[in-house]
Amino acid sequence: MSVIGTDWQRQVSGAQLIEGEWRDSSAQAGVIESWTVDGDMVCSAPIADLHTVNEAVRSAVHAFETSGWKERPGRERAAPLLRVADAMERRSAELASLLAREVGMPYELARNEEVKGAADKFRYFASIARTVEGRVTGSTPPRLLDLTVPHPVGVCALITPWNNPIEQPARQLGPALAAGCTVVIKPSEETPASTQALVELLAEEPGIPAGVVNLVHGPGEPTGEALVSHPDVSKVAFTGSTRTAQRILSATSDGLKRVSLECGGKSPALVFADCALEKCLDALAVGAFLYTGQSCSAATRVIAERAIYDAVVDGLAARAKLFRSGHPMDPKTVIGPLVSKRHAVQVQRFLSTVNDVGGTFITGGVLDGLYIEPTIVVGVDPQSEIATEEVFGPVTCVFAVDSEDDAVALANDSRFGLQAAVWTSNVERSIRIARNLQYGDVWINTYYVRNAETPFGGWKQSGLGRELGPAGLDEYIAYQRIALDVGETYQYRVTAKGEAT
Ligand code: NDP
Repeated sequence: MSVIGTDWQRQVSGAQLIEGEWRDSSAQAGVIESWTVDGDMVCSAPIADLHTVNEAVRSAVHAFETSGWKERPGRERAAPLLRVADAMERRSAELASLLAREVGMPYELARNEEVKGAADKFRYFASIARTVEGRVTGSTPPRLLDLTVPHPVGVCALITPWNNPIEQPARQLGPALAAGCTVVIKPSEETPASTQALVELLAEEPGIPAGVVNLVHGPGEPTGEALVSHPDVSKVAFTGSTRTAQRILSATSDGLKRVSLECGGKSPALVFADCALEKCLDALAVGAFLYTGQSCSAATRVIAERAIYDAVVDGLAARAKLFRSGHPMDPKTVIGPLVSKRHAVQVQRFLSTVNDVGGTFITGGVLDGLYIEPTIVVGVDPQSEIATEEVFGPVTCVFAVDSEDDAVALANDSRFGLQAAVWTSNVERSIRIARNLQYGDVWINTYYVRNAETPFGGWKQSGLGRELGPAGLDEYIAYQRIALDVGETYQYRVTAKGEAT
């Protein structure tokens, strides 16, 4: 049984992975289905009910306690992760086809960014699996060994979104497995097959014991909620919307679980008159429209110094018209379709508000089924919904400002704090602005630079904790302090009178 393949018409069946076995028919509580842009079914997967979620968690607990995975030296956990990365690259054509079918992601983008990016995450976390270390602290008497010992946190529930259904899970699976944890992953119901494909490669890897990786399908409720609130889950890693993150925080508060949250963004790009404008516009056009704008880091608010505002709008519009929207398997396609009809309805709702909030479409603005041309909007009220909330489509709003302070103030006037970009040739100013931006990740004179080595995560309502980099691994490690007195000297004495000295 495998969901991986290149056949556009092939329908596949999703299944739960529990104790190393694929289960497709047990305890069904209905099915979820995903579709291609052409209306063909990609995948039908059984919904995991409470019983199935319990079994998956039990499997992860059992593997954590008995499989020996957590006791392995880092190098022995690294080796299978490296082989999985190799398998991903070897099968990148099949994985990319699946992403094109299920997400609508253009095939070349899927192969070169999503799949290879995911393989790179596995390689990175495999490499730092060997670097996990504790400490012996020095501020103690010589007879006392004061140790800080790293442990894997235990069973992790991984909840992932649909927009990058292979690369996003890799950011959670890589560090969780490198740290010695066991996991139950629940993909988005929009993309059961894509995430299952990655899990299949992990399940096929003989170096990873059965039960270390488990998968359940189903919607946020009941499946996701049952998983994150399960008492035997020690940590929840979530990527998705802020609204769901808030629910997860409530659902995990009873157990005081460790939680890391990667949520939404409304990324500002601050463009000043002294920047290399052509370079800037090329990067921002990609930043706004790549992935059909279905990216938490998309450049959705372009804040331009008034002197170059017209040039920014015209330049972005010229580039937007050059991008080819089309079928995800067409090699010329840069902008694929939106992921689903359900999502298209939400994007349409945002578009329908533009005129009411003073806005004008410079390009795009019209949905044709799941397709939408890159859309540039000007004139909207900066407090309006389209200017403050995630559209998650290829839609960017451009604003004019008169000063650096105004630009920073408008950029920071957001409940989100994930990603920002600054464009200026003045290095001093660029660093000053970056340090004043209330964002966890700032690009200067560039866009979409993401490295596995660098921690990524949001401020404010864009999230808690970090993915990637050493900090990303640390999210899956629990530090224990052990103090060992190796001397014979008494620390305390209890006298015959019952005094403690
Ligand atoms: P959602 O928040 O709707 O869903 C994310 C995941 O959470 C899905 O698997 C969903 O299940 C699940 N879920 C929903 N409700 C619950 C619940 N009560 N308990 C447990 N799990 C639940 O986000 P989308 O899938 O729509 O993804 C888009 C969002 O993700 C955007 O807001 C985007 O900004 C954000 N995102 C953030 C990234 C980052 O790194 N900061 C990266 C990528 C996306 P189901 O959908 O199956 O119901």
